[in-house]
Amino acid sequence: MARYLGPVCKLCRREKQKLFLKGSRCLSEKCALAPERKITPPGGFSKRFTRKESAYNVQLREKQKAKRIYCILEKQFKKYFKIAENKRGVTGEILLSLLERRLDNVVCSLGFANSRAQGRHLVRYSHIEVNGKKVNIPSYLVKTGDIISIKERSRNNKSIKEALEERAKAGIPRWLSLDAKKFKGEVIDLPSRDDIQLPIKEQLIVELYSK
Ligand code: SF4
Repeated sequence: MARYLGPVCKLCRREKQKLFLKGSRCLSEKCALAPERKITPPGGFSKRFTRKESAYNVQLREKQKAKRIYCILEKQFKKYFKIAENKRGVTGEILLSLLERRLDNVVCSLGFANSRAQGRHLVRYSHIEVNGKKVNIPSYLVKTGDIISIKERSRNNKSIKEALEERAKAGIPRWLSLDAKKFKGEVIDLPSRDDIQLPIKEQLIVELYSK
């Protein structure tokens, strides 16, 4: 599946907020949106960046932000929306729950990677097993009871160990459990809206696609 390969800090600058796309760098002073830095729009200043946005533009930006946080492109995002729309319940919440259940996101949430992009890399390059079997599809949707683990031969990987140390400080979401010593995590529940602490107003996305 295609993915965005351009500079990622530019995406945060466009959305005027941190999207946490670069792991620990996002919490450092090197971040382009560190408090002491002035936010400059990608491509230099323009009236478009500072003027009052229309309702449509606000909805559009919210959708772009969600896509960028989860590192997916329009076609795939729309596919998730269609699935969410056809399920019973609150469409926006189901949409976020589906995105949250992606294997690359779960690998990051468990602390095996310090960004979703790195999580995706680990999945693509076959470092991850689900229920003891290799799964190299980042969009694989985990379900309750799934065991996500690092392949035996990859357990000495320096970046995985560092990411796990970082995660030990931050903690993991309620719907997952982790045994860091065994490089193994479990999906103990499906994520609900309250479990997703991201700055996304999903209702705006629903309104955009419902036009
Ligand atoms: Fe965004 Fe992280 Fe880059 Fe900061 S360092 S601008 S949060 S991707």
